[in-house]
Amino acid sequence: MKKTKIDEVIMLVTKYYKAISIVLIVLMLPLIYLIVYKTGGIKYVYSHSMYIPILLAGIVIGPKFGVFIALSAGILLGPLMPIDTVTNEPQVFVNWMYRLIIFVIIGFTSGDAFYRIKLSRKRIDELMSHNQETHIPNTNYLKRIPHILNDKEYTLMTVLINNHNNIIDVLGTDVYHTLLNQIYIELSEHLLDRSLVIQSDSNKLWIMKPFLDLTNDAKYILSLLNKQWVVENIPLYVDFSIGATHISHSRDLMKLSTFEYSDNAARYAQLNNISYMIHDDNKLKKKSDYSLLATFKHALEENQTFLVYQPKIDLNTMKPSGLEALIRWHHPEKGLIMPDSFIPLVEETKLIHLLTDWVLKNALEKIKAFHKQGIEVAISINVSAKNLYDPFFFERVMKTINNSGVSKKLIRFEITESVLMINPEESKLVLEKLVEKGISIELDDFGSGYSSLAYLTQFPISTIKIDRLFMQEILTNSQVRQIVKSAIHLSRDLGYKVVAEGVEQAEVVGVLKDFGCDYAQGYFFARPMSSEEITEWYTKALK
Ligand code: C2E
Ligand code: CA
Ligand code: CA
Repeated sequence: MKKTKIDEVIMLVTKYYKAISIVLIVLMLPLIYLIVYKTGGIKYVYSHSMYIPILLAGIVIGPKFGVFIALSAGILLGPLMPIDTVTNEPQVFVNWMYRLIIFVIIGFTSGDAFYRIKLSRKRIDELMSHNQETHIPNTNYLKRIPHILNDKEYTLMTVLINNHNNIIDVLGTDVYHTLLNQIYIELSEHLLDRSLVIQSDSNKLWIMKPFLDLTNDAKYILSLLNKQWVVENIPLYVDFSIGATHISHSRDLMKLSTFEYSDNAARYAQLNNISYMIHDDNKLKKKSDYSLLATFKHALEENQTFLVYQPKIDLNTMKPSGLEALIRWHHPEKGLIMPDSFIPLVEETKLIHLLTDWVLKNALEKIKAFHKQGIEVAISINVSAKNLYDPFFFERVMKTINNSGVSKKLIRFEITESVLMINPEESKLVLEKLVEKGISIELDDFGSGYSSLAYLTQFPISTIKIDRLFMQEILTNSQVRQIVKSAIHLSRDLGYKVVAEGVEQAEVVGVLKDFGCDYAQGYFFARPMSSEEITEWYTKALK
């Protein structure tokens, strides 16, 4: 929006409003004096016009100015004004004195009454625009922004207090509110004049400061926040997450939607356990992704998620030999959601731990259910990088499996090679611990990465699963066929079992058998099936 001439005039008038009012009011005095004089003197009605500047002076400027204008008016229409300008007869002293007193009373009372009204309006404004517990400006305060901030570019930051529930639980709300107020004071003292700090939620502050550089702005705020907070002599550990975004005009700060970007970035930082995140359209997920993530924990708790099972077939006997558990999400509004649409999102957050725990528990239940029917079935579950590098993963998994009473031989972990490559040393340590306890590790999606089989020998893997992309071309592309053949031969030489994924045609089965592949999995044999379906399918297939 471009500024017009009218806008500029309005801005100037607003800025010099008081000075202009004083000049106008003062100019009215001689003007009214002239009117009264020219119309024949004080005996006519025009002297009453003097109430206008007196009232205005009191209302617009205040009681003192009201009294000053009243006195000036009283004198102008008093000894300086005759009763009749033709005869030039002066007024009786009591008359003009009485008028002067009335003028003063009006000037003072109008000024005083308006002063009181203004004062209580200010108080109401203050109450409305500040959080009552913490005394920090709230979102109503944003309406004042055009008057306070006038820099062009702004950095907008959302500060989340991640452990606020903890602080409240342990130390109570009073301590928490005092802490927030301390944080507010610390921030306000260090920020430039044209900055603003607002409390937009019980655990959320918004900071607006003139834009320098997003990363440095976020780091600066972090440096202010990362100190030892002490409330009522209690040292507090406070965990913050910051999201930062840039806006090109302070006017945009009036729109609450502007804050969605920094809110989302802060939420992202919080979920990913990082201290700050700069809003980036490409990297940050869409709002719908956030809402999906937000409901995921609930989905797990309410069992909106469920497992389907896809069998692996032993190519020597053509009988099933184990299952792979694959997660699905039956969303109450969106319907069935496939794992590719939510696993990558969940994997970016700590929720992946809950997901894998949930899958493991359910897979163990399924093994037990088969066991009750007299069938021993091994189930593989997919494990993410975040799981493997979680320091508590191993203990948690062992506890769950031990509590279930299921034999460790029957649970297997599928891990992709890219996961191992993030941190080969650590992966190796965790995998060795698992294998030592009797859990087999299968290398998923082999061939989709770049690592060689020779390199992979350092990891305690029992099985290699050849990526399903190879099966799509194995019949038509002789090079692909050659690669699969070599991979199978080499794997077998190295002592690994080999599974081919994504087998959809009978011809592919033939080729794989020729190459000496041990197992296969794919739509040709069976699609992933529900818990009930798989029980029936598996029992029949074994016969
Ligand atoms: P994945 O581990 O490679 O799983 C195999 C995928 O291939 C499954 O897709 C399966 O339905 C599909 N598939 C099986 N046979 C065929 C076939 O013959 N042709 C084709 N074109 N596809 C076939 P799904 O169930 O959609 O899972 C996709 C990916 O999501 C999985 O790939 C896995 O990486 C991930 N995922 C699924 N469940 C879980 C889980 O519980 N935890 C984790 N961390 N990841 C999971
Ligand atoms: Ca898999
Ligand atoms: Ca796979």
